Amino acid sequence: TVKGDVHDIGKNIVGVVLGCNGYDIVDLGVMVPCDKILAAAKEHGAQAIGLSGLITPSLEEMSHVASEMKRQGFDVPLLIGGATTSRAHTAIKIAPHYDQPVIYVPDASRAVGVVTSLLSEGQSASYAAEVAADYEKIRAQHAGKKGVAMVTLAEARANAFQWNGDAAYVPPKPAQLGVQAFDIDLSELVDYIDWGPFFQTWDLAGSYPKILHDDIVGETARELKSDAEVMLARMVAEQDTNPWVKARAVVGLFPANAVGDDIEIYADESRNEVLMSWHGLRQQHERPAGKPNYCLADFVAGKDSGVADYVGAFAVTAGLGIEGRLAAYERTHDDYHAIMLKALADRFAEAAAEWLHAKVRKELWAYAPAETLSCDELIKEAYRGIRPAPGYPACPDHTVKGDLFKLLDAPANTGMGLTESFAMTPAAAVSGFYFAHPDSHYFAVSKIGQDQLADWAARTGMTVDEARKWLAPLL
Ligand code: SAH
Repeated sequence: TVKGDVHDIGKNIVGVVLGCNGYDIVDLGVMVPCDKILAAAKEHGAQAIGLSGLITPSLEEMSHVASEMKRQGFDVPLLIGGATTSRAHTAIKIAPHYDQPVIYVPDASRAVGVVTSLLSEGQSASYAAEVAADYEKIRAQHAGKKGVAMVTLAEARANAFQWNGDAAYVPPKPAQLGVQAFDIDLSELVDYIDWGPFFQTWDLAGSYPKILHDDIVGETARELKSDAEVMLARMVAEQDTNPWVKARAVVGLFPANAVGDDIEIYADESRNEVLMSWHGLRQQHERPAGKPNYCLADFVAGKDSGVADYVGAFAVTAGLGIEGRLAAYERTHDDYHAIMLKALADRFAEAAAEWLHAKVRKELWAYAPAETLSCDELIKEAYRGIRPAPGYPACPDHTVKGDLFKLLDAPANTGMGLTESFAMTPAAAVSGFYFAHPDSHYFAVSKIGQDQLADWAARTGMTVDEARKWLAPLL
């Protein structure tokens, strides 16, 4: 897993699958700087190098590793994998940096086929040529594409969503302003778990619960679920005596107002002291008639309206102390249970985010005190308000987590931290902001123009080059 990234479930599954097929794997772990990867590859005489990553800044790091491989005269193939990677990204942004095969591996089950083709004497040249031709085609298509129709930043702003479209709307004042932290009892989280993504983690395709009765993967899915339930029960039962993981959260609710595409978060109701200014990104693709170009700041009352509005912020983890059990599994080479534990910690973290959001709506902000949604309805997000997470489509900038963590004093309050790419530690974590506006919803910023890049850079205090690096996937 490349520098700045901590997510390794996929990488570990790839290692297991290749290992089972007779390959020797040198697993360098997570947050591995380029130099260390390349030195290890030389030392071990690696016949292929694989890079994995989850968050978008890792995409840039992968391009960097590819160019370093070229500079240092490597001649082994480079494999690319992880949730935000893609065939197009590999073809367009990574492969051009290296003269040898660079191959996108969509999931762990494909790793064996790819590596076998690359390393078999009879096949490797034709396989590499086939992939190179395919990627050349993708690059040509990309170069020839007109791309989505864009509007200028000024036009997009003129087509912003109007937060007070319903003039009678009065933003609710939180029952409890300020920051508070707490431990979460794992037993309270179990019902909030969304099992859908659990099966994706294991590369099993299908929606939950239908997947349990799928003709092809049903039996495997049932076995996995039953093994997960055994571990889950122990994680809950032993949480006080011999904890597997601890879950902890910090929440803050603050007076806030929008200023253009920014959201100012204030220390108190006097709204004089700005604790944090969040610099939003606005949709800049041409929208159908009557549809706004959204920015999250649109869901908060503008400062010039004189209306008192509020936002929330949170950080939650369910991975505290996970290292102990992981190390024990690693000692006995029990990859299956090590991966299972990480997958369950991730599920607990997302469940904790759901649980916490419900507590905010019902008690802390208390704008929906009488809400009685089932856990299924919660997973479908049938409630009022959203909790956008930095790095996700409505707010794709990861760097804001730096200010978010300061605002909440998240390291001291929860033991959470950030890497240089703004990945959260422990890896089983969610952080984000709360919006209460009844019309607030998730959307994707997708592509932005050079005008917004320059504007955003000026607002955040970054150079345009720095901003370009962080927002590369949007450009
Ligand atoms: N229930 C799923 C949630 C996955 S999405 C699970 O258990 O895995 C993870 C988090 O990203 C959500 O909780 C929400 O905070 C945030 N999110 C989802 N879609 C988003 C979007 N378009 N923009 C910003 N944040 C988003």
